Amino acid sequence: IIMETLDYNLKDIIKGCYPHIENFNPAQKAVIESGYLDAKDNYIIAIPTASGKTLLGVLAAIKTLLNGGKVIYAVPLLSIQNEKLKEFKLLEEYGFTVGRHPQSSDLSVMVFESFDSITRFSWNHLREVDLLIVDEFHMIGEYSRGPTIECALTRSHMVNPGMRIVALSATLQNMEEIAGWLNARVVEHDFRPVPLHKEVLNTEMFSTRNKNDVIVKILEKALEENSQALAFVSTRRFTESLASFVADKIKNKVPPSRKKAFREVSEKILQVPEKKGSRPTSICLKLADSAKNGVAFHHAGLFSEQKEIIEDEFRSGNLLMITATPSLMYGVNLPSRSVVIRDYTRWTSQGPQKIPVFDYEQMSGRAGRPQYDDVGYSYLIAKTLDEAYDLQEYYVQGEIEPTHSKLIENKDAIYRQIIAQIASSMAKNPVELQEFFSKTFYGYQMENSPYMSTFAAESMEYEINNAVEFLMHNGILQATPEGLKTTSLGLLIAKSNYSVETAVKLKEFASNMDELDIYKLIYQICHTPDLPLISFKGRKSKDPVREKLSSAGIFAVDMQNAEATAASLMEWIDERNEYEIENAFHVYAATTRRAAYEASLMVKFFRDICQVLGIYQPLGDLDILSARFYYGVKEELIPLVLGVKRLGRKRARALFKAFGEDLRPFTEKELQKVEGIGPKLAAAVHRYAQS
Ligand code: ADP
Repeated sequence: IIMETLDYNLKDIIKGCYPHIENFNPAQKAVIESGYLDAKDNYIIAIPTASGKTLLGVLAAIKTLLNGGKVIYAVPLLSIQNEKLKEFKLLEEYGFTVGRHPQSSDLSVMVFESFDSITRFSWNHLREVDLLIVDEFHMIGEYSRGPTIECALTRSHMVNPGMRIVALSATLQNMEEIAGWLNARVVEHDFRPVPLHKEVLNTEMFSTRNKNDVIVKILEKALEENSQALAFVSTRRFTESLASFVADKIKNKVPPSRKKAFREVSEKILQVPEKKGSRPTSICLKLADSAKNGVAFHHAGLFSEQKEIIEDEFRSGNLLMITATPSLMYGVNLPSRSVVIRDYTRWTSQGPQKIPVFDYEQMSGRAGRPQYDDVGYSYLIAKTLDEAYDLQEYYVQGEIEPTHSKLIENKDAIYRQIIAQIASSMAKNPVELQEFFSKTFYGYQMENSPYMSTFAAESMEYEINNAVEFLMHNGILQATPEGLKTTSLGLLIAKSNYSVETAVKLKEFASNMDELDIYKLIYQICHTPDLPLISFKGRKSKDPVREKLSSAGIFAVDMQNAEATAASLMEWIDERNEYEIENAFHVYAATTRRAAYEASLMVKFFRDICQVLGIYQPLGDLDILSARFYYGVKEELIPLVLGVKRLGRKRARALFKAFGEDLRPFTEKELQKVEGIGPKLAAAVHRYAQS
């Protein structure tokens, strides 16, 4: 009914873009009835995941767009950015432009870091924005992304105080405090499209001591009911071992009618390396093997094609169970009737730590598929009855933790924010810096805590002064008669998304090298905090990595993931493929491409650092190295892969092998004799050769 109360235009657009939505759900109603659509106030909307927050964001966005305004929708991950862009593109039918930047779009979907960047350097664009929607706002309490969001919000309010902020969030404990900082109204609601039943099981109930046996029982029940389960464990390796354990136990209980579908999934998984002309790796075989019985594992070490197969087949009911690391909580929409949380501890530098109640809630929240299930089940597994009571109290009845700003704990965040404030000339001395920090969520929490304020103000002053000193010492800030300024190195850092630690490490490497040694540079970039690492699969098999590094002139004392990554990247630029790398070094090589791409960007950053330091001699070689990472090729193939779009490393090598470096004498027909070169590519190669 309430749908009918919307303005004519708004209703029309919603009906056009979301034909499956007939009416608002109770949470959406509560928000709309609070006057949300006509209010100018900032809002925090706190309802469970998958309860239709996006639609509320969209309603406010359309309302603003209809009035000729501009909107930014900020999200934490690239995968979410792409998903939302696809959804919002439907609005283009109604004459609004949708894209990634407010310069060119009425509605832009940006990742937090890009939004942060316009609050530093694009004030003219920021000032045109009327509404900012922040998705997954609860991440404000996270160690690395939290400070980015809070400082970007603080700065955007200083630059454009009239901009309305709508924050979409999971429920947090100290909502009122956060709302006080944002000067926002809060609407909380606990509506879920599928009700959730939470329970703690213990192994004694099943006359066993092994948690995995309990999971088998849950799966047997799921098999009877024709439903599915999602199991969370703490590490990649546990996802694998649990999947094989469960698959083995369930093997004889799967009816032949379902086995056929599972076998097809298994074959699809094996086809992934086959299509690339490689032999399957050991994890690929493991995955295919357990998938034969309807069980698959899912973690960041798999190839994206494999992850997609698993996700799609689970959604279509062709898998019984996925075992996953908690990273599956983010980004992927994969509900299941039952969710099993096997491990409630996580390894940290201080040893095993209990996961927060907030994470337990997020994982449990995956239970129940809208439109299919009348209820979702979340099971947490304890060993003994006593432990079960404790967990019941701590997690099921327990309150989620209060959210604190991580700004002062995260030194790099303070460095970056100081550089940002000075580079954008919003501050020119420690007093003005302090003013800025006092307006952040950190500053607000300190100001409003009766015990902390004097102490906090002093400790903040101390931290800021220390940080400024560190930045001056490292040639990032300089004192001038007009106050603090960034050096060219400082400006370079401000415009990048790299941590100050990475920048300082690279600067020192540049200052200390006599001649560029690319292997030493690769080793160094793998030891910065910003390169995503390729990890070892197990403790064994470190010798091949050691040998590789030593043949590159590097004597490594440690044998950790950074070393594994360095060795893998050295192979990558020598044209080995991921499957070969995985087999050679016993690493999760699926992440090689991502690491190589980031390495390519970081080499460019290193090149820029050399340039501002006046070290010009290695610049050309660094351009070549960056391209070798990007394309995964030896130097001799670079002109060809750069010259012919979408040719790729494999076909480029095949052409080179067949015809040598000089392709000018060969006709299109001759070029087509090489595998993978069709008429279109042959024409492109020919054009390139003649140019
Ligand atoms: P959230 O952002 O809260 O995690 P989403 O906005 O992605 O959740 O919503 C989850 C799904 O529910 C989407 O497919 C969305 O189209 C659908 N949905 C949202 N509101 C309604 C509604 N009132 N009626 C039916 N489906 C809805």
